[in-house]
Amino acid sequence: MELKVINSGSSGNGYVLISGAGEILLLECGVKGIEMKRAIDFQVGNVAGCLLSHIHQDHSGRIKDYLNSGIKVYASDEVSSDVLAVTGEKTVPLPRMRKKKLGGFTVIPFHVPHSETECDGWLINHEELETLLFITDAEYCPYNFSNMNITHAMIECNYSEDYLSRAEDYGKFEHVLHGHMELQTCKRLIQTINNPNLISIGLLHLSGGNSHPERFRQEIRNLVDCDVNVWVAEKGFQTELGLYPF
Ligand SMILES: [Zn+2]
Repeated sequence: MELKVINSGSSGNGYVLISGAGEILLLECGVKGIEMKRAIDFQVGNVAGCLLSHIHQDHSGRIKDYLNSGIKVYASDEVSSDVLAVTGEKTVPLPRMRKKKLGGFTVIPFHVPHSETECDGWLINHEELETLLFITDAEYCPYNFSNMNITHAMIECNYSEDYLSRAEDYGKFEHVLHGHMELQTCKRLIQTINNPNLISIGLLHLSGGNSHPERFRQEIRNLVDCDVNVWVAEKGFQTELGLYPF
């Protein structure tokens, strides 16, 4: 299973999973349709669907491009209502904590706390990667996935308190604190999902001013076995999310 980062962070989010057979699952629709199409070699007909975490512009801002291309966008009932109310666009509503099959992928949305905004993490199963845990824009993860044998994780690691300046405007500060995952919170989550089958961890949505990608990657690496691939989501990054070490 190939993973491509079209972009990650407050300027727009978009990720692509491409199976060996060419089936595609998109995560988020916050990047331009043309950028998404380039990332999938214009194989729009192979897209099983696009999962949307929440209404914020950097995640959903380009939804029209996706829908106009005939791509179905899936979101929890709660997020679907937000999208309809704010943009008038129709996503496919899914009940939280229920499985939905999209081609060879099985996906489950679950609530995560993101300030006052409805937001979902996703569990994504596919025979080529087993279980991928995807969480972005969350203060913390409210569920314990320690018994789930997570093989791959894509988790927001937005900021470190060490870099936050309290002189920043107060509203923005509040949003960061209650909307995004701090390094120590991310580390605690990684510790709970760490297991002998863990293969890779991607760190998502790093803040431009309040993060340090190499430090974050090193600190996460120190928590897990040395053969776990810890990567930072940057525009254009690609990696393999497989099950085999060759
Ligand atoms: Zn957000």
